[in-house]
Amino acid sequence: MRYADPMNSPGSPPPGRPRILLVGAGHAHLHVIRHRHRLASAELVVVDPGGFWYSGLATGMLGGRVAPAEDRLDPRRLCRRHDATLLRARLDGVDLTTREACLDDGRRLGFSLLSLNLGSQVDHPPARRPGPRVWTVKPIPQLANLRRQLERAFDRGETPRVAVVGGGPSGVEVACNLAALAQRRSGEIEVTLVTRGASVLGEAPPRAQRWLARHLGRLGVRVKTETRAVGHAPGGLMVSDETVPMGEDSLDLVIAEHVVHASGLQPPAVAEALGLPCIEARGLAIHATLQSTGDADIFAVGDCAALPGRALPRQGVYGVRQGPVLLDNLAARLYGRGLRDFVPQRQALAILDLGQGLGLALRGRHWWAGRGALRWKRWLDARFLRRYRG
Ligand SMILES: Cc1cc2nc3c(=O)[nH]c(=O)nc-3n(C[C@H](O)[C@H](O)[C@H](O)COP(=O)(O)OP(=O)(O)OC[C@H]3O[C@@H](n4cnc5c(N)ncnc54)[C@H](O)[C@@H]3O)c2cc1C
Repeated sequence: MRYADPMNSPGSPPPGRPRILLVGAGHAHLHVIRHRHRLASAELVVVDPGGFWYSGLATGMLGGRVAPAEDRLDPRRLCRRHDATLLRARLDGVDLTTREACLDDGRRLGFSLLSLNLGSQVDHPPARRPGPRVWTVKPIPQLANLRRQLERAFDRGETPRVAVVGGGPSGVEVACNLAALAQRRSGEIEVTLVTRGASVLGEAPPRAQRWLARHLGRLGVRVKTETRAVGHAPGGLMVSDETVPMGEDSLDLVIAEHVVHASGLQPPAVAEALGLPCIEARGLAIHATLQSTGDADIFAVGDCAALPGRALPRQGVYGVRQGPVLLDNLAARLYGRGLRDFVPQRQALAILDLGQGLGLALRGRHWWAGRGALRWKRWLDARFLRRYRG
């Protein structure tokens, strides 16, 4: 039996049947949708404003080795196949008294259980006009647009100058793949990687850092360490040299037509506006059961959620591992059973796509660089996407 379409219904759950509302088609929610039969007695509604873009392939897509279509999947097809309803909308707020989610198109949607998988955003100084084009690594479609703009510039015979802010994994991947894109298109590019740290990828083992420094040098990426991005200006990115003593002029301009911000993923602004407990700069506070510390019927997972005891790195792999726990716990809440804890792994494997078919695999003190590392990553990526493609 099909229940009321929430597009047309006033927004309250159908009488007698609980509604589970999943907001954001992130990693953990894809798992819940795929195993929707475990929640058979409930109506399942998913709210998301766009398709799912897979970050594991995002920089490969920027570098031109991966087509944009390969990097996304359509949650609508997955929902159709598993008897869930997808609404294209954005969550604006939650009314905790009436148990309704407030959407940006004015709809209010009642829920019995709510789960939030809202991802993350990159904060940056405001853009200026005149000034460089400002991009962020999230949402990922921005990288597809940046690639298109750069390809047009190469076709016109221009040499675009790009400043990348952030010396962590995503900044490094972006810088390398910008250089790789220019090579693929037989174009020229000037890439400057700006980082506050004393070195790029400061948490990697020292020998991996040295290997990476040589790789960046070979690609022609200029690296400015101990440098902070302070704002945009006509002509480029204003930076401040952190080594200059207080009181002396530390400001400089990195000339650039494009600035890509990759300096750390932050919880999305909406997460802090929901009236649920949050941990500053880390997101919605959750128990190990993935329930909000403020409401047992509201769950939060992935980058937008934070366990009080331990700050997890913002990696999709944690969202993937939370998926089965979330599914079990939604079912437990639905059928009145006990909940189980999510126990994060101590260290997660990260494999960086460094362009030109090369990868850098990192896990704690262990590392491995080369073509095999990227092939391994592509195998993991393909396996993940295959699972959820319609
Ligand atoms: C360039 C780059 C490369 C990366 N590479 C890797 C990697 O190789 N491996 C890895 O483990 N991690 C990687 N990461 C980190 C990874 O992107 C994140 O940790 C991961 O995407 C978080 O997953 P999530 O499920 O929390 O959210 P996401 O996968 O970001 O999904 C969030 C969803 O919520 C939706 N949404 C947002 N706001 C709203 C709203 N208000 N209402 C409704 N829906 C909303 C979005 O449309 C999106 O579909 C990378 C990050 C970047 C930037």
